[in-house]
Amino acid sequence: MPELPEVETIARGLGKRVAGDVIESVWIGSKRQPLKSPAAEIVATLEGARIAGVHRAGKHLVFDLEYGAPRTAGFAGNRVAKPGACHAGRSGCATPRNSQWIVHLGMTGRLLACRPEDEVLKHTHLVAQLSSGRELRFVDPRMFGKLSVHSTGFDPGGVEPLEVGDDQFIALFRKRKTPIKSALLNQKLLRGVGNIYADESLFRAGIRPRRRAAILTRDQLRKLHGAVQEVLREAIALGGSSVSDYVDADGEEGLFQLQHRVYGREGEPCLTCKEPIRRVVLAGRSSHFCPQCQK
Ligand SMILES: [Zn+2]
Repeated sequence: MPELPEVETIARGLGKRVAGDVIESVWIGSKRQPLKSPAAEIVATLEGARIAGVHRAGKHLVFDLEYGAPRTAGFAGNRVAKPGACHAGRSGCATPRNSQWIVHLGMTGRLLACRPEDEVLKHTHLVAQLSSGRELRFVDPRMFGKLSVHSTGFDPGGVEPLEVGDDQFIALFRKRKTPIKSALLNQKLLRGVGNIYADESLFRAGIRPRRRAAILTRDQLRKLHGAVQEVLREAIALGGSSVSDYVDADGEEGLFQLQHRVYGREGEPCLTCKEPIRRVVLAGRSSHFCPQCQK
């Protein structure tokens, strides 16, 4: 499952490829599971929109869409607005309203920037044709991914882990009676931190996953804050070179990986102290830690 660093990498890769492009037409398949907004609303919002930029919010990809900008060459320039389409801010509206297209990749979703001649993969649920000739294709075999459209200001809830300050981070966790690992995974607190990066952050901060958040000292929480940001930034930096693995149709699938120090290393020696790494199950998720280095 793509975690925050992968989604950040994908957002940057897509931004490089499609920012400034205009969505000319949209095809949506017959499967309704991935659609969190009605298909007709997605089509009406996307068609004719210019992609101003792509960014990440938590684990969501956010396409900022603009309307009424000068159209680039191609048939979009002559497009006749459909009746009833003016909620998206096209002709007929006094003030063009901008929108956002939100994509959550779920477990197996991919959003690919394709050439028209690229093979259309099985489980393609949406194709957006762009004025540049490229196509954006949403492919998702297991259909846990989600597509929706919003007016601007989409808020997935929670605080952005790479933007949160020390005091705010401490305040988020201080009074939580749950294990710190569960609190880190709680998307209403921090958005986008998943299982792998939670385990790696706790290892670097020297805190066992089962410790109650509320009994951690301010210093421990400060250290954890630093560790979370460090781990995420390192992973994003590593991802920079593998963008094509995600967004180009001919790229290989798979997550780029930080050198995991604890995640997935049950029974292997700790890289710091040689003690075997342990695994416990917390709220249905595996947690990995070093019994020596983490207290
Ligand atoms: Zn150790």
